Amino acid sequence: MRTIGLLGGMSWESSIEYERIINTEVRRRLGGVHSADLLVRSYDFAEIEELQAAGDWESAGSLLASDARQLETAGADIIVLCTNTMHVVADQIEASVNIPFLHLADATAAAISAEGLETVALLGTRFTMEKDFYRGRLEQHGLQVIVPDEPDRTVVHDVIYDELVQGQIVEESRGSYLEIIDRLLQRGAQGVIAGCTEIELLVKPSDVVAPYFPTTQLHAIAVVDAALAQD
Ligand code: GLU
Repeated sequence: MRTIGLLGGMSWESSIEYERIINTEVRRRLGGVHSADLLVRSYDFAEIEELQAAGDWESAGSLLASDARQLETAGADIIVLCTNTMHVVADQIEASVNIPFLHLADATAAAISAEGLETVALLGTRFTMEKDFYRGRLEQHGLQVIVPDEPDRTVVHDVIYDELVQGQIVEESRGSYLEIIDRLLQRGAQGVIAGCTEIELLVKPSDVVAPYFPTTQLHAIAVVDAALAQD
């Protein structure tokens, strides 16, 4: 089994879900008392959020790249970044290590294509919905991506930072998300990406009337596939 290096804590509310899903899936596949072989670098999210708010992606990228290198030195065979948003610096991280970097958008796109869908809605932080790094990666896989209009984007973004990364699950916000999802389905989306690793803590697949793609779950399972793959 390969050693998985996790860059997490962005936020820890979702990183513990990565650990839970990865460990549960390794036990399901290998049985007995098996669990995953993990190295975890978990940040103080306040420091990351400060860099995001300042638009200082260069410093954020240097930090994550340097820590990815440390995980490699410590024995990681695979690097996993446990947040959609910080994939904005994925290229910097990938270039800094000699081990595979498992991009979250690739795992998501594979799941969408496996369902035969072409047009999907993307919910996430403002950075994920508005910048090209994530949508562009999905489009490279042949997908069409729809994001909410304003003021819905602001609602989606604010719920993530004001509630979900602070461990608050608010019923009213779930209702707001479901209304936003309805509007995206009316605009032609065939499915919905929970493109922020905390969103699936708020909106479950059973809440959504269309195919739903929870990125923490999808990424974590793809990580187990890679960790247990035979050469
Ligand atoms: N975890 C979130 C994501 O998947 C947002 C927090 C962050 O900005 O990293 O995008």
